[in-house]
Amino acid sequence: MSHVEAALKLARQRDPDQPEFLQAVEEVLESLESVMEAHPEFVEAKILERMVEPERLLQFRVPWVDDSGKVHVNRGFRIQFNGAIGPYKGGLRFHPSVNLSILKFLAFEQVFKNSLTGLPLGGGKGGSDFDPKGKSDNEVMRFCQSFMSELWRHIGNNTDVPAGDIGVGGREIGYLFGQYKKLQNEFTGVLTGKGMSWGGSLIRPEATGYGLVYFVREMLATKSETFAGKSVAISGSGNVAQYACEKVIELGGKPMTMSDSSGFIHDADGIDAEKLAWIMDLKNNRRGRISEYADHFASASYAAAQPEPSVNGLWSVKVDVALPCATQNEINGDEAKSLVDNGVMVVGEGANMPCTPEAIECFQGNGVMFSPGKASNAGGVATSGLEMSQNSLRMNWSREEVDEKLDTIMVNIHKAAYDTAKKYGREGDYVFGANVAGFLKVADAMLAQGVL
Ligand code: NDP
Repeated sequence: MSHVEAALKLARQRDPDQPEFLQAVEEVLESLESVMEAHPEFVEAKILERMVEPERLLQFRVPWVDDSGKVHVNRGFRIQFNGAIGPYKGGLRFHPSVNLSILKFLAFEQVFKNSLTGLPLGGGKGGSDFDPKGKSDNEVMRFCQSFMSELWRHIGNNTDVPAGDIGVGGREIGYLFGQYKKLQNEFTGVLTGKGMSWGGSLIRPEATGYGLVYFVREMLATKSETFAGKSVAISGSGNVAQYACEKVIELGGKPMTMSDSSGFIHDADGIDAEKLAWIMDLKNNRRGRISEYADHFASASYAAAQPEPSVNGLWSVKVDVALPCATQNEINGDEAKSLVDNGVMVVGEGANMPCTPEAIECFQGNGVMFSPGKASNAGGVATSGLEMSQNSLRMNWSREEVDEKLDTIMVNIHKAAYDTAKKYGREGDYVFGANVAGFLKVADAMLAQGVL
């Protein structure tokens, strides 16, 4: 049994009830066979065995009172997975599906993603099984205050710097930051995704979606292609999806779809800037459902989500580029096949792990360019890193400056993943390239810092 296989076996034995975490671990470790063979010092120092164990895992209760006076109790988590190259950094997710397996997969992925950005950021993730959907602003505020009443003692601008993720946007970051500031009696850059008047960075809201499109632009360029005239399927209609859509339109592409957890819309004429502004108002201000788009725009149709993933869904729309931007495991093997049969050229993950292992195998086996989220959605955390730098410097860079830095970082991540894959004889395999490039930097740091 190889060293990688043994490390995988151990991980499976330790956490048999954590399928998402094991899926993420398998995807990374399976890329590392040749690296471990070339680096016996990593084997001896048990780098892999250490990397799959979080440095610290916090779980706490979050009690709060709803508008009618009823008490609710949710679970809160923070996972400080790996701090070898910088303070822990990663988002908070508020969604009823949140559990240890999902947060551990996200925190594990974050370690490699943050390494790929080239910035000094360790990996972490956290959140709660709280569902902000349908809650009043006051209820969300009370929940966030209760959540931070425990979390504040474990984080800090040089220790752990959380950000947003699913269900945690500008509103939630505001309430969380306010409570941290009150308890710590200190105004510091302890959270990213802050509002512009209190320490936020321009382009942070746009960063994950824009960065994804910059990355896919680089992938297309390796085949002398561009976004101009390409049809694009986007899933989700939250932060990542909205700004991916905006940048695709800007680069001359034609977004055809968007979705939420209730279903998806397909606009035969494409989603233009005006229609996207309508979606942003619907989702960010009116907090409505994507189905309303089809009531408003005659060129669009709506289909409700199926109880099980379905090949008749969003991924059956014929497109050149697919950008899954909603959640994990949203494209299965059958849906991938449907995209391939319809001639998709590129699939860029905006969400974290939206494609199942079967889907990735299908894309790679059929010559479809595929980028894993840890590379193509790293623009969000990279710009969070830029927000931290601006907070430390106590100054603000212009929109153009931040956007240019983001673009450069995405070009560099693409180059690192592409060149690493090529160096190991796997040209075009972005999964391999991203895993190996992200791993090496963290492994070297762990080795240098001793057995911790
Ligand atoms: P948002 O909460 O802003 O939006 C999430 C979108 O996905 C919503 O449209 C939501 O629909 C949909 N969605 C969520 N869960 C499901 C589900 N189980 N089934 C179908 N649709 C679902 O989150 P973000 O846009 O911030 O995050 C989206 C993805 O991108 C996540 O995987 C996140 O981890 C990843 N990501 C986000 C970054 C960021 O900077 N925000 C950075 C890097 C990665 P509904 O409203 O109905 O729930």
